[in-house]
Amino acid sequence: MAKIVAVANQKGGVGKTTTAVNLSSCVAALGKKVLIVDLDPQGNTTTGYGISKRSVDIGTYEILIGEADARQAVRKTEFRTDVIGSNTRLAGASLEMIDLPGRESRLRKALAPIQKDYDFIFIDCPPSLDLLTLNGLCACDSILIPVQCEYYALEGLSELISTLKTVRKKYNPYLDIEGVVFTMFSVRYNLTLQVVEQVKKYFGNKVYQTTIPRSIRISEAPSYGQPINFYEPKGKGSEAYMDLAIEFVKSNRPAEAAPKRRRGKA
Ligand code: ADP
Ligand code: MG
Repeated sequence: MAKIVAVANQKGGVGKTTTAVNLSSCVAALGKKVLIVDLDPQGNTTTGYGISKRSVDIGTYEILIGEADARQAVRKTEFRTDVIGSNTRLAGASLEMIDLPGRESRLRKALAPIQKDYDFIFIDCPPSLDLLTLNGLCACDSILIPVQCEYYALEGLSELISTLKTVRKKYNPYLDIEGVVFTMFSVRYNLTLQVVEQVKKYFGNKVYQTTIPRSIRISEAPSYGQPINFYEPKGKGSEAYMDLAIEFVKSNRPAEAAPKRRRGKA
């Protein structure tokens, strides 16, 4: 039964998609069965896995609206990871779902039939707190938060935390914080260290030891449609995401892995 992990932070440009693509690929490289769901109408996860957005005729939009089953939407890739893709059509889903039953839990329902096919399902959330992201937060067992080390990072985080509290109270009581990862990290700046200290004060041991360095290779891999561990297997970007994957998988060892929602039922 897959653990479902949403990669979320309502701030744009902090490295959500980059982390979702590369972490999922590195977790799959460790031998886990992995699916990634592109919940962002920009479709950058889709292209990051070498799938053209125009070719996505059955994707996240169709499963949210109920026009297709998740299994029909799954695309195999040459990178071990399966993908449910998206494109700009998904932008309409927020509005269209408003009048549909169970509008915030449609993704959870849609993924349920294929959850047993995987060890982990990642969801790349859009940079917003709209109905799409709410579906991501209701569908997942935990949220993984990429944080870019800059002054405004903290402001965005407090907003995210209050959203999490609301989601827990109203929809998904077992929603956990999977972890916090620093992206585009550069020790050269004093500010970086200050932000790291403050985030650690708040999230404690939820902060991953691994940090993702700023790297040109990481930023150019998507234009070749490849996760970093395929694009430059021996580079520092690949090494960092592989380290993160190892840390991620370790913290999900069997005893700790059973998501609470189902542990409660057992
Ligand atoms: P988000 O999904 O949060 O909006 P992205 O993952 O799309 O953020 O990243 C925003 C931009 O930063 C992209 O152009 C991406 O290539 C770049 N980027 C992300 N991580 C790194 C990194 N470690 N080093 C260099 N550039 C990065
Ligand atoms: Mg993104």
